[in-house]
Amino acid sequence: MLNENCVFCKIIRGEIPSTKVYEDDKMVVFKDLEPKAKVHLLAVPKDHFKLLSELNEERAEVLAYMLGKIPRIAADNGCTNGYRLIINQGDDAGQTVFHLHIHILGGENLPM
Ligand code: AMP
Ligand code: ZN
Repeated sequence: MLNENCVFCKIIRGEIPSTKVYEDDKMVVFKDLEPKAKVHLLAVPKDHFKLLSELNEERAEVLAYMLGKIPRIAADNGCTNGYRLIINQGDDAGQTVFHLHIHILGGENLPM
């Protein structure tokens, strides 16, 4: 299910522009608008849900599927020497877009 007012659902529907680097029936990966590293991608499930804490069996399967795809997508996009995955959960983590997403950061040596 997509959400009318969600910026990532709009990207998935092609209603607002993005630089997509990968897409299939379950997920999309596009460049972060304000990159925090040389390579900064966002991996997003096509099914809209807000938080990691809202995982159920079906969503967990999609998340596992995404984790399986990410190594290849990261390598193909310049993360040849490692990368970092981040999921921000809620306000204390500074989550700003409430459609679950995995940050893929790399392309350089990352500060802790
Ligand atoms: P988070 O803090 O985990 O919710 O991260 C949301 C991320 O989405 C931030 O890194 C933003 O720069 C990024 N972002 C917000 N809007 C867009 C957009 N239209 N296209 C690409 N990235 C976006
Ligand atoms: Zn959404």
